Amino acid sequence: KDEFLRNSEKLSVVGQLAAGVAHEIRNPLTALKGFIQLMINSEEPSPKYLAIMKEELERIELIVSELLMLSKPQTIHLRPVDMQEMIEEVSALISAQAVMKNIAIDLHSQAACPLIYCDPNQIKQVMINFLKNAIEAMTSEGSIEVGLTTDKYTEQVVLRITDQGCGIPEDQLKRLGEPFFTTKEGGTGLGLMVSRRIIEQHGGKLTITSTVHVGTTVEVRFPLMKEGLVEHAAVGI
Ligand code: ADP
Ligand code: MG
Repeated sequence: KDEFLRNSEKLSVVGQLAAGVAHEIRNPLTALKGFIQLMINSEEPSPKYLAIMKEELERIELIVSELLMLSKPQTIHLRPVDMQEMIEEVSALISAQAVMKNIAIDLHSQAACPLIYCDPNQIKQVMINFLKNAIEAMTSEGSIEVGLTTDKYTEQVVLRITDQGCGIPEDQLKRLGEPFFTTKEGGTGLGLMVSRRIIEQHGGKLTITSTVHVGTTVEVRFPLMKEGLVEHAAVGI
């Protein structure tokens, strides 16, 4: 593809994102303005309105903080980190949410020392996004299988998260990662876009496969660090 085409594609993504942000933030802003006007008219604060206003502000806050994840390359701190440790930490963090819905998170690892060169906070954010989506997709009790393996031939660490959730219909599968595409009430539709961006910044690859009423598998591959390199790089931490 020529440079011009690439640039115009980039522009259209920025344009699409800007339009989405403006739209998503305008709604809660309009609501906030309305409630303020009502309180000005009645000349007194209303606890009911204030509670709704707080919710609207929290929505703006959530959207803005997810978008900030996109603009953080300057603060990225790359170092060798064990994928196993990260997924264990994240699973513990999210287990309360799973337990509440009677969902078990089963970790399987056949990867010895699966080190990748990454910013651990960003990779953990990606893992949280996928696990949250898996939990949210499940309407009844069940389990989420988390597998960690290494692929010797491609020299990659492979993380697979498989849920027993609602699945994703074919026409929606194509739209995943589109900014603000969500099927959830209160969803931001930013998690997958942000996650994919982070994965690509780390030289990784994201694949999502799904069967309606059966479940969804999210597969993430990262370049595995060679052991010699690991020893060497680990000194600098
Ligand atoms: P959000 O979670 O705020 O909706 P995401 O970008 O994380 O935003 O996900 C976008 C959409 O992709 C979701 O609304 C949902 O329709 C679909 N999706 C993502 N992960 C799953 C999953 N594990 N099972 C079913 N649907 C999913
Ligand atoms: Mg999500």
